[in-house]
Amino acid sequence: MKQLGNKFALRCAILYVIILASCSTPTEIDTEHMSRNLQFMVKDTEIGNFYEITDSAILMFANIEDKKRKIVECAIYADEITGFIRLARNLYGKEYVNWYKTKGIKRFASSYYDKFKPIEKIFYDKNSDKPLRKLRIAIDAGHIAGSVEEALMEQRIVQIANNETVFYESLLTFATASFLADTLQRAGAEVLLTRKEFGHTAFGSTYKSWLKSEFKTQIDKDLAESKIDSTKYIFLTEEADSAQIFHKYFKFLNIRKRAEVINDFSPHITVILHYNIDQPSEFSPDNKLKTTTRNYNMAFVPGSFMNGELQKPAQRAAFLRLLLSGDINSSVDFSDEVVRNYTKTLKVAPVSSDFRLSYLDKGSLFTGKAGVYARNLGLTRLIKGTICYGETFCQNHQDEYQRLADTSLIINDLKVPKRTKEVAMSYYQAIESYCKKMSQNEEQKNH
Ligand SMILES: [Zn+2]
Repeated sequence: MKQLGNKFALRCAILYVIILASCSTPTEIDTEHMSRNLQFMVKDTEIGNFYEITDSAILMFANIEDKKRKIVECAIYADEITGFIRLARNLYGKEYVNWYKTKGIKRFASSYYDKFKPIEKIFYDKNSDKPLRKLRIAIDAGHIAGSVEEALMEQRIVQIANNETVFYESLLTFATASFLADTLQRAGAEVLLTRKEFGHTAFGSTYKSWLKSEFKTQIDKDLAESKIDSTKYIFLTEEADSAQIFHKYFKFLNIRKRAEVINDFSPHITVILHYNIDQPSEFSPDNKLKTTTRNYNMAFVPGSFMNGELQKPAQRAAFLRLLLSGDINSSVDFSDEVVRNYTKTLKVAPVSSDFRLSYLDKGSLFTGKAGVYARNLGLTRLIKGTICYGETFCQNHQDEYQRLADTSLIINDLKVPKRTKEVAMSYYQAIESYCKKMSQNEEQKNH
């Protein structure tokens, strides 16, 4: 068995030499583009064990031993890069990961990639009263709660200590998404909302009804496909209450569903809406939040892989897409626009590094644009193309919480604070000015 393994390693090493020597085409690796991406992708040193950039190819490895033994999991040659980027945008979920797993060191001619649609450019029609008429925009309103009880279960409720004020993030994001969708549609854009009705999840129903009608089928399927082990299965099906099922199982499933729905829509731009909390760890004993004098905004883009985050083929497949495509770059540019519009419209500054927030220090990489950080969240990794995961101001800020308790506007029969409309307008202005800029750049290139 050992000998067989050695023979296999030797065969791989020979093939590896062939890969390195096979730069017969004039196409070269754009190392500058990749270095730019990598500076926002590699948070921890272990990540370097999974890839190598040679003069003629990008090589991915399943682990450090394979890298040492030159056993390549997936190679993309210089002349395949353009085709690969198209493929990676067009293939979703399992289909893409399976392709990655079976690619190996085969080299495909460019005609192989022709079947994948080219990535559409952004077009802002300045001569139309519907200037966004050629754009698809996806909006993901964070969280799912449709009531105070659900917000408590979801642990996304804001109750201010020594105060009657109670509101929850799921309502704020849903209202923001509704205002933004209306404005975008009036400007001609085609809009996808991952939560179509208040209180609904990405599965198109409430969490309660999902629990009743879909939970058992889903978890049986996951057990059959070894996605969960029998201990977790027994716990979730026999012991856990609905809140435990939510936090230990549904939450992650719902994130994957949000990403799937968005990728199916193939949007030009995706915005993921969240509202932040300053120091959520400082809950008082009765589960109430203290107010804070600190207020800040920020946005996340893909990247910042940490130790342990390239263990699975799906994670490595996402890493490869981000390394080669322009997704990080366009997401940084767009998110920069978003943060600048938050600052202008909402009068809240981007987060300062003096605040020493642990998820920024330990889990994120600064992109060089104020308030914009790379962070490897489920959604930033899974959604393809240009994205902004926005975290507007702190809900427990001493002035903001009072603004958020306001119920003077009505949208979709919900009473919501004016502030949510202002947030929606800041996203709208960011989308409009980003699209104008991209469209102008394209025009200049073509002249
Ligand atoms: Zn949130």
